[in-house]
Amino acid sequence: DYTKPALEDLIRTIPDYPKQGIQFRDVTTLIADPVGLRTAIDGLLWPFLKQNVDVVVGIEARGFILGGAVAHELGRGFVPIRKKGKLPGKTIGQDYTLEYGVDTIEIHADAIAPGQRVLLIDDLIATGGTADAGLELLRRSQASVVGAAFIVDLPDLGGSKKLRDKGVLVHSLLSYA
Ligand code: IMP
Repeated sequence: DYTKPALEDLIRTIPDYPKQGIQFRDVTTLIADPVGLRTAIDGLLWPFLKQNVDVVVGIEARGFILGGAVAHELGRGFVPIRKKGKLPGKTIGQDYTLEYGVDTIEIHADAIAPGQRVLLIDDLIATGGTADAGLELLRRSQASVVGAAFIVDLPDLGGSKKLRDKGVLVHSLLSYA
């Protein structure tokens, strides 16, 4: 007897991480589950199956796991956006404010060819600061952004609305209000 697990039942909520008052949605438990992982990857990519995605871009670190699997499934390559100082080649960088501080993310300057159709992947969108900085790197790389996909949206923090207001197709599998 087998019942397919619901994605929300595979996501663990950790109270007061990384600081008091934050309910951290932990997708590592979902990714560790074989059916959960496959269901999440299918869910992330289905709206983009006929969108002629050329390359999948994922944001460090859980965006690597999910984006790599999405790229594989679409038969495309994967490009990482990393925290400052991690990429060995010439990079372009973008500062951003995230839910818990300030940071910089980078992409290799030659990773995206002008006009390439890009799907952006991360595990979760909260304020949208991270994804927005990623989109700015893609804009500066002259990418054509097909959409941005997340397992979890925290709509009360406004990030998905901010991206949609800019004309980005935002796709998420679950939202926690
Ligand atoms: P934002 O920049 O405020 O949208 O925050 C999203 C970024 O922070 C993503 O890269 C997430 O991985 C991470 N993040 C923020 N809150 C959570 C959470 O509750 N669970 C997992 N990751 C989170």
